[in-house]
Amino acid sequence: MTFSQLEIIDPILKALDEQGYTNPTPIQEQAIPILLKGRDLLGCAQTGTGKTAAFAIPILQHLFLNRQSKKGNRKIKALIVTPTRELAIQINNSFKAYGKHTGLRSSVVFGGVKQHQQVNELRQGVDILVATPGRLLDLMQQGIISLANIQISVLDEADHMLDMGFVHDIKRIIAALPSRRQSLFFSATMPNEIVSLSRKILGNPEKITINPEKATADRVEQSLYYVIKKAKARLLIHLLNKGNYESVLVFSRTKYGSDKIVKILNKADYKAEAIHGNKSQSARQRALKNFKEGTTKVLVATDIAARGIDISELSLVVNYDLPSVAETYVHRIGRTGRASASGIAISFCQADERQYLKEIQKLIGQKIKVIAEHPFVDEKEEATEAPSRPPRQNRKRTTKKTGSGNNYRQGRKR
Ligand code: AMP
Repeated sequence: MTFSQLEIIDPILKALDEQGYTNPTPIQEQAIPILLKGRDLLGCAQTGTGKTAAFAIPILQHLFLNRQSKKGNRKIKALIVTPTRELAIQINNSFKAYGKHTGLRSSVVFGGVKQHQQVNELRQGVDILVATPGRLLDLMQQGIISLANIQISVLDEADHMLDMGFVHDIKRIIAALPSRRQSLFFSATMPNEIVSLSRKILGNPEKITINPEKATADRVEQSLYYVIKKAKARLLIHLLNKGNYESVLVFSRTKYGSDKIVKILNKADYKAEAIHGNKSQSARQRALKNFKEGTTKVLVATDIAARGIDISELSLVVNYDLPSVAETYVHRIGRTGRASASGIAISFCQADERQYLKEIQKLIGQKIKVIAEHPFVDEKEEATEAPSRPPRQNRKRTTKKTGSGNNYRQGRKR
């Protein structure tokens, strides 16, 4: 599926192309046609799924197609209410990026800063306003913002809003909206309170649910290597030699295992460090800092140690050991790439991890692509999964005979 198949107009297609978006994410594929028809929408989806573009594109398209040529002050016609300043800024930036060639103007208001600059922008006239609830109400009370001309309203991260105590603010905002409008309501979870709030806002909405596990898995390029336990380190070095990865996060099940991987990588001249519970806080922070700055290319972590680390934009995630809990796999691979398809995750699977693999594949709703050709194939395991491999005479033998088993000694300095 491409964006043009969703009947998106050229000025927006052009902007999406400039953003490097080639295909819509699942939520975009589902939500855009519904919203272009003018229907209300109840979306159960999280940030990270491509949700912003799913509502921003149809809003921009609607406003562009219904724009009025006469000069005069622009009125706010689309309102997006979101809980945090960071989200508000991000959403406004997305509108600016996707709407770059439409001539439509968007702006953002949020609390915690002086209102002067925000008011100045509003006075110049905007078509789309992104706002956090408190500042929006404040500016409405001052008569600076009017919602009388809103055609489309979006309530984003509704569950998050309620958790932050915005329920009364939201109700007041909703009460100020014109009754004839298109309404969109997004929430990552749907507890009863959210369902009843959604009923107050939406007419007869279409509903879509995006399984976050599936969404993550869909956007990350994943592959699987059947390999015996003893050959995992050599396979890792082989793959690092082959690819030109900037930053690699390797997950190991045990602390001892992660130290061992680091030792082997260092021997192969890869700058690697481990973070796990046995390391002091300062050693962990140092390792993390080195990794973020790029002096360490490979960080080896256990799941618990990795939980608190804030690193995005990884080139590669390696599941050196498969996790015993399927959701952990999704959290791990979700660290590479965003909604774009640029993330890469490689998993090693030894004989006794087959059950974990089954559960992971069930959760993500897909089979991970098996790489049948590599120098360390676990013949027994791979044969059951990939019967179509090439005839034996064309295949490389495992380990020593190819010479690749020594890769770690030949590794280049990174
Ligand atoms: P969101 O869930 O809206 O916060 O989007 C998460 C990230 O995905 C943002 O960085 C977007 O720029 C990016 N993104 C959204 N849609 C697409 C797409 N169709 N292709 C590639 N990246 C996308």
